[in-house]
Amino acid sequence: MTEDTQTPTISEARTRILSEIGGDVTLVAASKRQPEERIEAALEAGQRVFGENRVQEAQSRWASRRANCSDLQLRLIGPLQSNKAEDAVQLFDVIETLDREKLLKALIKAVEKTGVAAPDLLIQVNTGDEPQKGGVSVDGLAALLAAAQETYPGQVSGLMCIPPADEPAAPHFALLKKLADQHQLKTVSMGMSGDYALAARLGATHVRVGTAFFGARDY
Ligand SMILES: *Cc1c(COP(=O)(O)O)cnc(C)c1O
Repeated sequence: MTEDTQTPTISEARTRILSEIGGDVTLVAASKRQPEERIEAALEAGQRVFGENRVQEAQSRWASRRANCSDLQLRLIGPLQSNKAEDAVQLFDVIETLDREKLLKALIKAVEKTGVAAPDLLIQVNTGDEPQKGGVSVDGLAALLAAAQETYPGQVSGLMCIPPADEPAAPHFALLKKLADQHQLKTVSMGMSGDYALAARLGATHVRVGTAFFGARDY
């Protein structure tokens, strides 16, 4: 295989992103559809926090690695179906995409049934009110949060958003940060390859970076 010498290595990309976001922000490497050798390179570079979009892909990638890597942290950043809740709570430390009460109930049931430590939860907010997109509406956030705090106390630690692709991200980041402050939630997950530095300036505690970290996805 020929390497393009202009392409930064994963280690170089990681160092650059870390310097851009500053020491208080956690870099979540969004590893969906990345080849195995890049996952290995990321681990070798010291990356330990990974975001995955699909439960099944994450299981095949991480189930065995998890056993040998005690400081690994896995975060589910893609939509979760209630019928996958049991698999999800057994694999992920954090689930960033809680967006409805039905899923909350399924997660509580899954934790009780499997006996695993309850994952931290973030509520995904559909800040752009986009139809067909994941996330609770801005208007629905308070009710979902109240339900979670009543039935699953202390587990919701923050908020997550994916701004509409065709709009400037800054207003969405500012809104998510404002909502988190209003509800006294400390974790704010926002910003991807094109806008992680902006998100960090606007109050992100976690940025989720895929292609700018790993390079283009496989498919
Ligand atoms: C894929 C994905 C990312 C990373 O996207 P890039 O543009 O490759 O950085 C971040 N967050 C979510 C929810 C994703 O699905």
